[in-house]
Amino acid sequence: MKKPPPLTNDCFALPQGTNWTPVDEALEHLKSASKCLVGKQQLCPVDAIGRVLATNIHAGSSSPPYLNSAVDGYAVNSRDLKKSDLISLVILPGRAAAGHPYSGKIKEGEALTIYTGAKMPIGADTVVIKEDTVSEKNKVKFYGPIKAGSNTRDLGEDVEENALILQKGKRVTPGDIALMVSTGVSSITVYSKLKVGIFSTGDEVINSGIKLADGQVFDSNRPLLLSLLVQWGFDVIDFGILRDNRKDIESTLEQTSKKVDVIITSGGASAGQEDYMSAILTQNDSLSVWRIAVKPGRPLILAVYNGKPVFGLPGNPVAAGTCAMVFAKPALNVFSGRNWLEPLSFELPANFAKSKKAGRREFLRARVRNGKVDIFKSEGSGRISGLSWAEGFVDLPEHELSITPGENVKFIPFSSYMD
Ligand code: AMP
Ligand code: MG
Repeated sequence: MKKPPPLTNDCFALPQGTNWTPVDEALEHLKSASKCLVGKQQLCPVDAIGRVLATNIHAGSSSPPYLNSAVDGYAVNSRDLKKSDLISLVILPGRAAAGHPYSGKIKEGEALTIYTGAKMPIGADTVVIKEDTVSEKNKVKFYGPIKAGSNTRDLGEDVEENALILQKGKRVTPGDIALMVSTGVSSITVYSKLKVGIFSTGDEVINSGIKLADGQVFDSNRPLLLSLLVQWGFDVIDFGILRDNRKDIESTLEQTSKKVDVIITSGGASAGQEDYMSAILTQNDSLSVWRIAVKPGRPLILAVYNGKPVFGLPGNPVAAGTCAMVFAKPALNVFSGRNWLEPLSFELPANFAKSKKAGRREFLRARVRNGKVDIFKSEGSGRISGLSWAEGFVDLPEHELSITPGENVKFIPFSSYMD
């Protein structure tokens, strides 16, 4: 199926004269600039885990598909159940079991042995639970009255045929698959997987598995981003590590832009002499260096290269990871056909004290223990151990703030960004 048209070069441009953009404003801008970038395909629901629905889904049939018993017991007619005294009914020969409907009819004064999931026989509308009865020869006895319809599951009581069951833009969960299958949906239209190309930049950055030479660091950003992107359900193409070399970066951007829907890079995003990402993207007139008032963060590049959006994340690993979750993830959702989603957050008491100045929104590495939020011992954006220690962020607003232990803070679990 045909792909939507690409983004225009200037789509990420911030208003003239913008200096430090507050996070919410940056997100608002990103939201309005983002759109679906992928085509569509047909799939079976069972193959659609993690995929994004490209249409609303309606039930092909009712669930349950017929009136059936919710328990083991006796199928009876409710006209026999009104007495508030001992009721005695004749047990019919035969039975109704799951997958084995009873072909006869139940008349007043009669009861049929029935098992959970069995289709209710004609003439019966209620089931008396086996444990509430005693049977003697061909008679079953129990105390009334019993409400008509008890212990049965009605045709379509969960979902009626043709009902809207799932909305366009939803990412398919295991529960959604069960729902579609149980309501007779056998083919659905989903968006094609978003293809994300990724590379790191930096003369000092090397692949793991080799001994570090003087002045080198292992590339931790690429493995971090790769695993995030895989968890997010995207197809990832890894373009490796690029030296701080204009020609290499330019030709890789050229190649990458032909193969993927989105490009994510880390490093070289500032305005320094060795920061070629920003230099190259400035040249094609699409660059927006987003000086977002966020910590950790520093400049984040948003640009368009050959019609493909480029996220140039900061090189510092904590900043790269934070910007990937806070800024890239919601936009990638929209690129892949989903809605713009706000991460789920909770107000929880702080188990720390902290003062912050006005100016920047801060995302501190944090986790919850015994109902209280702890923060990582250091805020340094190169402290990768904090990314592993943490299970979420404490999100502190731009304004000046002084937090004392026990005061509520906003906690965003990393799992909010994983869906
Ligand atoms: P840059 O944004 O290129 O100026 O890099 C900022 C800091 O992040 C420097 O200390 C880099 O060595 C470090 N850095 C850059 N890229 C990576 C990477 N892929 N993995 C780990 N650290 C990196
Ligand atoms: Mg660098």
